[in-house]
Amino acid sequence: MKYDIIIIGAGAAGLMAAHAAVSRGKRVLVLERKTRPGCKLLITGGGKCNVTHTGDMRSFVEHTVTNGRFLYNVLHAFSNDDLIAFFGRYGVVLAADEDGRYLPADGDAKDIIDALLSATGGAAYGYNARVERIEKIGDGFMVHTDKAYECASVIIACGGASYPATGSSGDGYEFAASFGHDIVKPRAALAGIRTAESWPYSCAGVSLSNAGVTLFDGAKRMYRERGDIVFTHDGVSGIPAMNTSSSVHRCRTPVLSIDVFPDESPAALEERLMYLCAEQPKRTIVNMLDILLPKMLARVCVLLCDIDGTKRAGELSADERRRAVVLLKQMRLTVSGLMPIERATVTGGGVAVAMIDAHTMMSKKIPGLFFAGEVIDVDALCGGYNLQIAFSTGYCAGMNA
Ligand SMILES: Cc1cc2nc3c(=O)[nH]c(=O)nc-3n(C[C@H](O)[C@H](O)[C@H](O)COP(=O)(O)OP(=O)(O)OC[C@H]3O[C@@H](n4cnc5c(N)ncnc54)[C@H](O)[C@@H]3O)c2cc1C
Repeated sequence: MKYDIIIIGAGAAGLMAAHAAVSRGKRVLVLERKTRPGCKLLITGGGKCNVTHTGDMRSFVEHTVTNGRFLYNVLHAFSNDDLIAFFGRYGVVLAADEDGRYLPADGDAKDIIDALLSATGGAAYGYNARVERIEKIGDGFMVHTDKAYECASVIIACGGASYPATGSSGDGYEFAASFGHDIVKPRAALAGIRTAESWPYSCAGVSLSNAGVTLFDGAKRMYRERGDIVFTHDGVSGIPAMNTSSSVHRCRTPVLSIDVFPDESPAALEERLMYLCAEQPKRTIVNMLDILLPKMLARVCVLLCDIDGTKRAGELSADERRRAVVLLKQMRLTVSGLMPIERATVTGGGVAVAMIDAHTMMSKKIPGLFFAGEVIDVDALCGGYNLQIAFSTGYCAGMNA
């Protein structure tokens, strides 16, 4: 049988593309290498699936770290409001939390997948069907798994190279490259940050709430966010650190600066330290710092400031106090890398946007070949933006293929 459209990948982008194509009456085949659809969707948002975010499309473009402007048209063609209405039609009510993230109000990622499958009624599915290559034949294509399928158009929605156990191991880049498309080297995005200093690793498990995180490249500020961070065996994690990680590749000498007390000026923090020392002069300095900081961090603080933590708080000199304030307001860490791409939430890089028509998602090189989702060189911050990108690009590819 000859299909109008073959979609490679039954993830967020592929399923939405299938919905759009089926709604136009197209004969659609979805080929998925795993035994079921949406393996990555199932684990998104800690299983709750944060599908999108509040805000207008300008805000979505701003929250896209790489090639946000390329997405302007598709985000308008299928916006967060369209997505919320879509899921509503298929029985999933979405509600925004206090941070503006939309999640199923009364359900989880499984409901999102079920809704997407209901919306693609009429499409044929082939599971356990890893596409090995795509061949151009005349006006159409032959798509090869261990079988061969003929079609007029192909949508490559294979995802990136992160979390390969969910099926996305970078095959889409090879298909795109085989047709001469430029590929921006895939890299980790939204990942934990590794540091040259070893002390963050020794603080594994310690978290700081509402810390200020700033990424510098030399003296230039590249990114700034506030929120909860956690030190891990891999370095620094938590949403502000993960968001920061997506800008690291733009830096020559990336340095992370953590402000433990962003609501307090250095003078106010110094005054607070003075007050604590005066109030409990007999306490050891390290015990006094325990009042302000998690225990492990208090120990690191005295070490880094070269203060004898066993001294009495009443003996803390003005110079030592100032050193502690400088450290707590600007804990500088040299970024030595990110967690490997396999463990990154999202893959940066991918099919170069210059090769894709921004209105239709069709290749500018190969008519009839389309791209959707994370396989494209786009990546955004945490908060539902990456899934919205997958849905919007999938929708446009499905409407135009
Ligand atoms: C742990 C985790 C949590 C996340 N949480 C969120 C969140 O809450 N909100 C958010 O916006 N984003 C989140 N993301 C990111 C988001 O999941 C992805 O950006 C999004 O799923 C990308 O969709 P996609 O359809 O492009 O790719 P994928 O969802 O990866 O789908 C690609 C599909 O293609 C299939 N495939 C690959 N190669 C082949 C082949 N050769 N033949 C056949 N099939 C193939 C794969 O098996 C897979 O099913 C999270 C990611 C992770 C890893």
